[in-house]
Amino acid sequence: MTVARIQQLPANVVAKIAAGEVVERPASVVKELVENSIDAGASRIDIELEQGGSELIRVVDDGSGIAADQLALAFAPHATSKLAEAEDLLELVTMGFRGEALASIAGVAQVLLQSRRPGEPSGHEVRCDASVLGEVRPWNGTPGTRIEVRQLFFNIPVRKTFLKSAATELGHITEVLTRLVLANPTIHLTLRHNGKQVFEVPGSAGLKNRIGLFFGAEVEDSLFEIDSGEGAARLRGYVADPHCNKGNAKLQYLFVNGRWFRDRSLGHAFQEAYRGLLMTGRCAVGFLFLDVPPDSVDINVHPQKHEVRFRNQSSIYSLVRSTVKARLLKENFVPRFQFQSENVEHPTTSTPSRAFPDLPPAFFQPPIRQDTSPSIFSPRRADAARTVAPWEQPAAIPPTQKEVITEAPPPELPFFIPPLAIGSALQVHDSYIVLETTDGMQVIDQHALHERILYEQLRQRIVSGKLEVQRLLIPEAIDLPAPQVAVVLEAAAELAQLGLEVSDFGGNTILLSSYPTLLERRSPVNILKGVIDELLNKERMPNKAALLDHLLTTMACKAAVKAGDKLTQEEITHLLKLRDLAEDSHHCPHGRPTSLNFSRAQLDKQFGRI
Ligand code: ADP
Ligand code: MG
Repeated sequence: MTVARIQQLPANVVAKIAAGEVVERPASVVKELVENSIDAGASRIDIELEQGGSELIRVVDDGSGIAADQLALAFAPHATSKLAEAEDLLELVTMGFRGEALASIAGVAQVLLQSRRPGEPSGHEVRCDASVLGEVRPWNGTPGTRIEVRQLFFNIPVRKTFLKSAATELGHITEVLTRLVLANPTIHLTLRHNGKQVFEVPGSAGLKNRIGLFFGAEVEDSLFEIDSGEGAARLRGYVADPHCNKGNAKLQYLFVNGRWFRDRSLGHAFQEAYRGLLMTGRCAVGFLFLDVPPDSVDINVHPQKHEVRFRNQSSIYSLVRSTVKARLLKENFVPRFQFQSENVEHPTTSTPSRAFPDLPPAFFQPPIRQDTSPSIFSPRRADAARTVAPWEQPAAIPPTQKEVITEAPPPELPFFIPPLAIGSALQVHDSYIVLETTDGMQVIDQHALHERILYEQLRQRIVSGKLEVQRLLIPEAIDLPAPQVAVVLEAAAELAQLGLEVSDFGGNTILLSSYPTLLERRSPVNILKGVIDELLNKERMPNKAALLDHLLTTMACKAAVKAGDKLTQEEITHLLKLRDLAEDSHHCPHGRPTSLNFSRAQLDKQFGRI
């Protein structure tokens, strides 16, 4: 019989286990390294990545550096120089300095640490690969610290397979940096990916400018400053005009004592302050900075310090709600909202009364049509009369698209659609179409139905390789918040399959040079922007085919008539005709019903006739 012996785990195994907690993906490495640079008093931090950080993460700072005799110690587990900053050991831990980040990172990657203290004639370097420490050697670099992390998870192949595409990892890194850049508004920070600059945040850019840089001018221009004033706890920051709202809570940023954290309860408090000012399901935008005494908050309740616990949660809740609410009340928003129409995405821009906001004709080539249907798909009939020059032929679709799209979920079985007596179709509230049917009546959601029809038409054309693409004579330049540019360009191939050709124009600008002819009635730029919003969330997508299908759904949604669009009788009739051709006219691509049926018997019963 073998006797079980208790054994101490080897240091490299301990490091691997610890890394599991601290190092989840490249973004966690970037976060730890940049936090160290900030702790070292750096005023400038330059970050360079290859392949979403899985090949290389390099962080260069101009901070206080590490002395030669301390270099190796930086990799030792539970080694920190930050004791002096805290009054006692416990406070040190309370502040989140546990001296385990570098040790953990070096346990699962190949790390080169180079550093020179300002005022010293030269610096030193040391390597640490999978917890194996090399020799300390002289290094001739500028003052500050330069750290390179290569081949993340090279010794844990299982972890490596969990990494997502470079674009997705880059998205996570951008999110981490956004939080750090907002929390440290004097730091100059640059990010490069695969040799290209993703963004540069100048040190002089204040908090408001930083918000604009990451989230666009629309958000920046709608901010109101808040400050609760001195107290046991203080709340400062910016909250957005209710007109600037989003479909999710991503643009609700919370910081406590200079650190980002998430908190559902405070998110709720914030949202409560906007009660009555937002449509249901819409989320407010805000950047909230709390300052509280360090001993009234515990930041060690989460391994990556993403969550915190306040000693007095309910008073913080009230502080958030009342400060934000008081600020919004000053603006006297309520009356404005009573006149707001329900489906305005960006209520600051006026809603066109016609369903087809016209695009500047000079920017477009004549549409190439096979379809001679009425105006719902042909808003610019005059254009069609022009002759088509050979260079204006539809672009060829990349040959790969067929395989990719056919991987998408198979179309549902066609439903049998009983023929309708389309005589007296009535549009109500510019949103619904009411019809008399042989058996009763039907109420159709015009947006849901049109969305389904466009989705099917687009998908069929892409699968059969017959998606007509309209090329723009002058490509449309679109300015995007810097971090989004990289994400869009990484997805250029997928976008091309959908008929949206994008290219890099330099800076924060991309060029859109084509769009699917089928969708011409809506601004191609808006369609692309809708698709971009989805791309930014795409880590939720299990594979390429699902992503494409999802983007297709978004495109159809953006291009379809909206609730609130007045339709002519001709347009209604055409929409109903197309419905008969749809495979599944009963559900929109998101799965919601397109129509409700009320039978004659039901109506009679409700009115007490039978
Ligand atoms: P912690 O930050 O909790 O102290 P880390 O493992 O992140 O632990 O870092 C260990 C030590 O290495 C730090 O305490 C600091 O002395 C040193 N260090 C790491 N990065 C830097 C840097 N960029 N500049 C100066 N010193 C650094
Ligand atoms: Mg650290």
